[in-house]
Amino acid sequence: MRLTIIGCSGSFPGPDSPASSYLLEAEGFRLLLDLGSGSLGVLQRYAGLYDIDAVCLSHLHADHCLDLCAYYVARTFPPGGPRPRIPVYAPGGAASRMARAYGLAEPPGMTDAFEFVTLSPGSRRIGPFEVATAHVNHPVETFGFRLGHAGRSIAYSADTGESAALVELAREADLLLCEASFLDGPGLPSDLHLTARQAAQHAARAGAGQLILTHLVPWNDRARTLEQACASTFTGPISLAASGQSLELG
Ligand SMILES: [Zn+2]
Repeated sequence: MRLTIIGCSGSFPGPDSPASSYLLEAEGFRLLLDLGSGSLGVLQRYAGLYDIDAVCLSHLHADHCLDLCAYYVARTFPPGGPRPRIPVYAPGGAASRMARAYGLAEPPGMTDAFEFVTLSPGSRRIGPFEVATAHVNHPVETFGFRLGHAGRSIAYSADTGESAALVELAREADLLLCEASFLDGPGLPSDLHLTARQAAQHAARAGAGQLILTHLVPWNDRARTLEQACASTFTGPISLAASGQSLELG
């Protein structure tokens, strides 16, 4: 399976990356994990606009889902007519939330373009991927993911504070793609985001093969983010996500 990082900027787009979005491909199937602000534009460098087979939204914060509005327009009004519906796996309430975000009346909202499927914790197959989901620790309902294909696996934290569920999702995964929104410091809010050091501690507890730090907030110093993660007990490779970076597993 191939992972391409479309957007890894935390909380809002940065000068060199859209907000959260990740493209996973296997056996010709293309799954988008999150579709944050600005990601639909950059996505088109790496996949055809209509070559996406499914979308998963970890949660309904704007920086993880709002480009679904742009994608709705792209799929609904192209020359030649609307493109077929594709599934959007998301927390409950996503169809109404996205209709309101765009200002669409319900029904139909976006349901002619997208088949909204409500996520719940557990396992399901999406195309060729085995997908496990679990609630992580964030102020709105948020799912962490583990995607498996041909014996390889990628775990994705979404947005979370410290989370035992994330450790389980990432258990011996080849790669943990983990948010690192905070740098170490006093007075950090709990149950919201991870520091780079905490991200690496989660990777260590899970026994993950490698760690890519993502959801990098533009106001943070990236060198310090990497340095603080490397000061943890995690012994595998640690790197910072970058828009356009691609990784083949298996
Ligand atoms: Zn969030």
